[in-house]
Amino acid sequence: MSVENAKGMLIKATQGKYAIGAFNITDFVQLEGVVEAAVNKKSPLIIQTSVEPSKFYGRKTMAAAFRAIAESAPIPICLHLDHCTDVDYCIKCADAGYTNIMIDASKYSFEENIRMTKEVVDYCHSIGNISVEAELGTVSGVEDQIKVVEDEAQLANPDQAVEFVERTGVDLFAPAIGTAHGVYATKDPKVDFERLGKIAKLVNGQSVRAPLIIHGGTGLPPHTVAKLIELGGAKFNVSTELKYTLIDTTFDYITAHRKEYNPGKINTAVKNAIREAVEKWIDMLGSAGKA
Ligand SMILES: [Zn+2]
Repeated sequence: MSVENAKGMLIKATQGKYAIGAFNITDFVQLEGVVEAAVNKKSPLIIQTSVEPSKFYGRKTMAAAFRAIAESAPIPICLHLDHCTDVDYCIKCADAGYTNIMIDASKYSFEENIRMTKEVVDYCHSIGNISVEAELGTVSGVEDQIKVVEDEAQLANPDQAVEFVERTGVDLFAPAIGTAHGVYATKDPKVDFERLGKIAKLVNGQSVRAPLIIHGGTGLPPHTVAKLIELGGAKFNVSTELKYTLIDTTFDYITAHRKEYNPGKINTAVKNAIREAVEKWIDMLGSAGKA
């Protein structure tokens, strides 16, 4: 159907109490698998790349491949740059054709985070329909997850969250609530639901100003995902699971077909495995049929 930015589709998701998966890809085989899953499920889709793959292929190549695929797919799709800490590179990716940009200045002071975020927001809004995501607080790696959840100072402060959204004009807001990147050490990681609920009420209670983003989707149990959606989580980032799927499927295929030497068959095996993983996420997030 179309190339879209994320804000409109995430406002609809927030209002409809479902969420949209934002799936990190590192190559075009994964890209095909993710798109196929969303088309099969008739789900809106957010494709993400982190900075490294966008530099590996080149941001223009990445954006061109995305647009070629997205323009012929019968669902709304956006291309999002994940966790970019460099304002200049955010601007370059916006110019190259990314439709959403995440400026992650969360490791800086509150004021510096606002200044950097606003610079990217002002640029992206000035050149067209590009939405911007920013983060407040620390979304840790899983090795620090427990420590971060137990240290309130590292999570997003609800009053500061409102001030941050108002002063930056940011489109999508990722508050740190205890979720983490990587594979959780426990089956039921501790997440600060109450904090997300407060932030949702303060930021989006009257009207949806900035849909809320949940980082660290991989490994969250379904009941946690459901509760986060109920409280206002609209976009779930899924990265680690797709990396594991790519590498494990490749390894297993080659191990089972050691003498074959047919890369196309490896690609097909990976694409199918990615599609299955993404279809499960779409079902869990409730976005099937919402395209
Ligand atoms: Zn993240």
